[in-house]
Amino acid sequence: MFDTAIAGSLPKPAWLAETEKLWPKWKSEGAELAQAKLDATLLWIKAQEDAGLDVIGDGEMSRQHFVHGFLEQVEGIDFEHKVEMGIRNDRYKAMVPQVVAALRLKGRVHAAEARFLRAHTTRKIKFTLPGPMTIVDTVADKFYGDRVALAFAFAELLNQEALALQADGVDIVQFDEPAFNVYMADAADWGVKALERAAQGLTCTTAVHICYGYGIKANVDWKNTLGAEWRQYELVLPALAASCIDQVSLESIHSHVPAELMALLEGKDVMVGVIDVASDQIETAEEVADTIGRALQFVPRDRLIPCTNCGLAPMSRAVAEAKLAALAAGAALARQRYGAG
Ligand code: ZN
Repeated sequence: MFDTAIAGSLPKPAWLAETEKLWPKWKSEGAELAQAKLDATLLWIKAQEDAGLDVIGDGEMSRQHFVHGFLEQVEGIDFEHKVEMGIRNDRYKAMVPQVVAALRLKGRVHAAEARFLRAHTTRKIKFTLPGPMTIVDTVADKFYGDRVALAFAFAELLNQEALALQADGVDIVQFDEPAFNVYMADAADWGVKALERAAQGLTCTTAVHICYGYGIKANVDWKNTLGAEWRQYELVLPALAASCIDQVSLESIHSHVPAELMALLEGKDVMVGVIDVASDQIETAEEVADTIGRALQFVPRDRLIPCTNCGLAPMSRAVAEAKLAALAAGAALARQRYGAG
């Protein structure tokens, strides 16, 4: 009960890349960089195990950004000529690569880090991929001319990689879809279908992460405009409840998401965000257990997975480590409080 997991990303050590940045520059290149990425992965496997987490991830040490890491292995994308684009409905600007031809995978994307992760922990492992709709929102299209067609083209490639990750021994494949919380009507209309295409044929556990974004200023400013009650999830959760995806990760602590919206996910495992990624303040075990307690009114205890609200990538290493420990301590307290007896 209350197996713990993180949404995905963790801070990169200072010797691997620039710190506390969303698109950090690497500190080395070639074979040296490849080794440094795996060294950093090992460091975070150990840190997650030491904290007491039940599901272990690679912390996304091998990718510069959660979307562009995947795109680097896709043929038909021009990384040489990036253009500035407003993303997440113009919430912020980013320099993004362009789709210039039909898409095809150059080869495996995450084989090295997935196999490394499998080789270095006996616990359950989760691997994250960007979701099709979020990729479409983080790349400039000069070829397909249609967001839905582009999303399904990416979904096919994601599916190839997801099936290969399963074969590598990954227990949970998670797709990250923060765009579901921005384009709610499109998400319910075709975003979830594209997601299901990406997950087609998987027999391992499948998950989707939705959220209000990393704790960067543009996201914090946006959240301040959303009013007292954040009901974005209300529009997309029913479509996810009807989908083939097993687990849904959403933000809870310190957000204005009404807890009752989790009831819309009946039949799914719910990864409940009990760790705030927009604040350096470390949660107490009581706070974490209280958040779990609120969610338990709407999520059965055997379906509740305490998790972080989002990735921890832009935070400091020390804060992230303390937050992992808080997550595990809070879940342990919740087991005492809400356990079967
Ligand atoms: Zn997130």
